[in-house]
Amino acid sequence: MASERFDRVRRAMAADGVDVLLLSVGPDLPWLTGYEAMPLERLTMLVVPCDGDATLVVPRLEAPRVAERPDDFGLRPWGETEDPVAIVADLAGAPAVAAIGDHTWSRFLVDLQTRLPEGTTWRPGSAVTGPLRARKDADEVAALRAAAEAADRVAAQLQAGDIPLLGRTEAEVSADIGHRLVAEGHARVNFAIVAAGANAASPHHEPGPTVIESGQLVLCDFGGSWPTPSGAGYCSDITRCVSLGEPPPAVAEAYAVLQAAQAAAVSAATVGTPCEAVDAAARVPIVEAGFGDRFIHRTGHGIGVEEHEDPYIVEGNGTALAAGHAFSVEPGIYTTGSWGMRLEDIVVATDSGPDPLNRADHDLVVVDA
Ligand code: ZN
Ligand code: ZN
Ligand code: ZN
Repeated sequence: MASERFDRVRRAMAADGVDVLLLSVGPDLPWLTGYEAMPLERLTMLVVPCDGDATLVVPRLEAPRVAERPDDFGLRPWGETEDPVAIVADLAGAPAVAAIGDHTWSRFLVDLQTRLPEGTTWRPGSAVTGPLRARKDADEVAALRAAAEAADRVAAQLQAGDIPLLGRTEAEVSADIGHRLVAEGHARVNFAIVAAGANAASPHHEPGPTVIESGQLVLCDFGGSWPTPSGAGYCSDITRCVSLGEPPPAVAEAYAVLQAAQAAAVSAATVGTPCEAVDAAARVPIVEAGFGDRFIHRTGHGIGVEEHEDPYIVEGNGTALAAGHAFSVEPGIYTTGSWGMRLEDIVVATDSGPDPLNRADHDLVVVDA
């Protein structure tokens, strides 16, 4: 008997009229099978017919890495002289509707489009997997919580002044944070943004040679993947700002607005609330304080095996939050040329209210400078 996750996928396919789902590189495959394909030129593809057995087509030399799950899928290793696209086309048959993983290399998609019947309708795999992946089961929430607690420990080290800032470059601090994420149990580092002073006005600033100075606000936004027995990694993502010395009053006042906005959005994230209403809740205090035009991005993104996934906390997304939805709440205020600030937690919607996974101090902590 196939696992519960395969059952959910097939039910969603049947409901959407999808005859075959094709998953290659990217997060859908580890979410469903525990196996993560290397992003290689050799094709790995799981073929899931709506009615019929699933097969993982995998390069022969990668096959030893696959933890077999005979109840869920068969293995079809292919040798160097075989044509893997032909193997996939054969297994896919003649679907009226095929869904293919969003991260699949286009060269394989283009090739498959010439091998499958001309009338095949193509859909992104996320049309099937997105809503399923968005709602986490208890094991997935536990993994997200463990990841968040590890990220919190690194944030606490930052706030305690254990991570030296003054006189170091952003890049050095970024590497330091990355090492600490792994030391606290992450399997890998996904990113560690460190942005000092005016650099923080660019929300996704690339940490570079800028030397951190006294008096600056330093924004740190970092996350990694937490390992699980199933094989899929679950992501952490947190942002905290620290001030090297007492912040100027204007900065402290803006931070108080940001903190209120973040708390308001977390409180608004109850089951049944549309995603866009959570976004709106974060905007109210920021607009009232006159910073509306400096909050230049959505309030948050779903998180799971991928750092950014459904549901997106953004104006125009009327999706109602459901129990198990996990997402970031991360408003920011950015003043070009002088400073930027963001405050981010991961939150899970539950029947008993929003459950913020990150508990690191939300204040603008002053570290010695
Ligand atoms: Zn971001
Ligand atoms: Zn982040
Ligand atoms: Zn984020």
